[in-house]
Amino acid sequence: MSAVVSEYVERFDAFYREHFGQSAGTAGRTIGAARAYRRALSEAGLAGLDVPRELGGIGLDAATAASIQSALADRIPPEESIFGIGLNMAIPTIIEFGSDELQRRVVPPSLRGEVIWCQLYSEPGAGSDLAGLTTKAERDGDEWVVTGQKVWTSGAQHADLGIIIARTAPERTKHSGITMFVIDMNQPGVTVRPLVQMTGVAEFNEVFLDEARVPADNMVGELNNGWSLAVRLLAHERNSLGRSFTPATGRSKTGRQPLRHSQLCERAEQLGRTRDAVIRDQLAQVYIGEKLIEWNGERDLHPSIGKLWRTRQGRLAAQVAHLIGGPLAGAWEADDIDADYWAYHVLNCRGMSLGGGTDEIQRNTLGERALGLPREPSIDREVPFRDLPRN
Ligand SMILES: Cc1cc2nc3c(=O)[nH]c(=O)nc-3n(C[C@H](O)[C@H](O)[C@H](O)COP(=O)(O)OP(=O)(O)OC[C@H]3O[C@@H](n4cnc5c(N)ncnc54)[C@H](O)[C@@H]3O)c2cc1C
Repeated sequence: MSAVVSEYVERFDAFYREHFGQSAGTAGRTIGAARAYRRALSEAGLAGLDVPRELGGIGLDAATAASIQSALADRIPPEESIFGIGLNMAIPTIIEFGSDELQRRVVPPSLRGEVIWCQLYSEPGAGSDLAGLTTKAERDGDEWVVTGQKVWTSGAQHADLGIIIARTAPERTKHSGITMFVIDMNQPGVTVRPLVQMTGVAEFNEVFLDEARVPADNMVGELNNGWSLAVRLLAHERNSLGRSFTPATGRSKTGRQPLRHSQLCERAEQLGRTRDAVIRDQLAQVYIGEKLIEWNGERDLHPSIGKLWRTRQGRLAAQVAHLIGGPLAGAWEADDIDADYWAYHVLNCRGMSLGGGTDEIQRNTLGERALGLPREPSIDREVPFRDLPRN
């Protein structure tokens, strides 16, 4: 570990001890607590490892920032999760492609926890086939007027800003008439309706856009060049998803990260299941997967590889939690918070094979972009979007 990495790991550890005391991130996961945590992190000079200094970050190079993140993977508190879309996806894309003015306006408050983001990509008729989106943005003076519907929008009910892709030129081909914008979620034209999942929690939403307004200055990159930016943002998403695990301490009940081997061993010990040969074998598989993800994280691999491993690991670890807990993993006493935690992961882990692009799409991407295999046949790449048959 380099001197810079050790120095920052020590500083983060000291900050976590001071901010959380003994609770190590288990303190209320309310939005207010999460914002207060980010503000304190920023005041301690620890926000934005690889964000340029002039935008309020620390200005380290990407490799050093990744090493620090990997060394801290165990300790990342649950309070971070609400900021993931902003800090791991929207902000890196805006720093790369947004105007200087847009960067100065949105990056510093995002690092301080004043802005929560959502990602407005998927639509009822455009998921894997994302370039088939029909939400439109039309120019009106100094503004764009956005109308359409998005769906599965994680965290939109808490979001201040959204990163949105919309069709700006239906007369152009499917991939060449899309533009990326930053949209204010708190305006009359935006209606957010939570979708309750089988866990009983509404993590994501339907978002209805009815002539919502976007200032022209909020365009990211160039007009009609949004598809390449959208793909770039997805690579950031897959990279960050591929690295994530549940914190070793605390109970992150997002169910979006694989359970850890250490947590499962502790659970097996609590329930007296450590002598069961099948459970021992499965725990070894979880350990192997965890190590492979850790080592792969240190290599410069295609983002889809990390994403695929992570979703596989999430399913395996939840399945082992089920094996260890038996009925406790699916039905529990109302006051048994612990059992509820395991059940939540069992129910939620499948969604990870969909969010950020499905497993099948990751395999297609690897085949076409990493291995150079022929593209899937398509009949819609050369035709103006407005002439294509719709779902
Ligand atoms: C937990 C979670 C969080 C999410 N958060 C967000 C968010 O914040 N913002 C957002 O915009 N979206 C979000 N999504 C939506 C997600 O990106 C889509 O669900 C995903 O892209 C798949 O689209 P779809 O659901 O329309 O499925 P479809 O695209 O209809 O796919 C259905 C099935 O067909 C398969 N399939 C489709 N096309 C192909 C192909 N060419 N080759 C092989 N197989 C194929 C798919 O793999 C899948 O199994 C989230 C989803 C989940 C589950």
